[in-house]
Amino acid sequence: MRVRNKPWADGYIKAHSDYIVTDPKAWLGKWQTRFEKNQPLDVEVGTGKGQFIIQNAKAHPDINYIGVELQKSVIATALRKFMADPLPNLQFVLTDGANLDEIFLANEIQKIFLNFSDPWPKKRHAKRRLTSPNFLKTYQKVLDPQGKIEFKTDNRGLFEYTLVTMNQFPMVFDDVSLDLHHSPENDTNIETEYEEKFSPNGPIYKLIAHFKS
Ligand code: SAM
Repeated sequence: MRVRNKPWADGYIKAHSDYIVTDPKAWLGKWQTRFEKNQPLDVEVGTGKGQFIIQNAKAHPDINYIGVELQKSVIATALRKFMADPLPNLQFVLTDGANLDEIFLANEIQKIFLNFSDPWPKKRHAKRRLTSPNFLKTYQKVLDPQGKIEFKTDNRGLFEYTLVTMNQFPMVFDDVSLDLHHSPENDTNIETEYEEKFSPNGPIYKLIAHFKS
């Protein structure tokens, strides 16, 4: 996703360092100290402008959340949205999700959310997809053995690719929906910015999966 540079982003991020981390390796083993309470940790990779993770944190005060995002201008927008009504159970991290195993301990995370990840449709870019085998390997290291990955997309090609990479890993599917918005699970669905924008154009696909032990 190409984003316009936001000249205010740097200063804004520096001014709100209680809620956003830009040196995540320094926090290895210490994430819980950034929250009010020590409680289960869920992480969204590619958090974008933050709507999903902010609403989750509001709905589940008994869970700590971290939103990971690669692009400074995008995470600064999420942070600004969050600062309108800050919560003690949400932190943002500016980093590449490929580094999760360098910033989290083994088994530290209960759930990883991947929402409307960039599809990278060209075969030569497949390694950048957040559900490619190398990313799955990284998630396996940091996820609790009972932990789950929840993945939503409107991109049928990426969904099909993900079913294959997860099946071959091997992972086990707990749930698969080919039209989330017309399924019973939609009652508790929290929409992302992309979901709001693109769901009128076609179905939203969702899966929940865990690693085979
Ligand atoms: N999840 C949001 C939503 O559904 O509205 C944003 C979706 S947007 C298409 C994908 C986001 O993932 C972008 O903000 C992009 O910068 C971020 N992203 C892509 N690759 C990433 C990576 N390796 N690590 C962290 N974020 C990544």
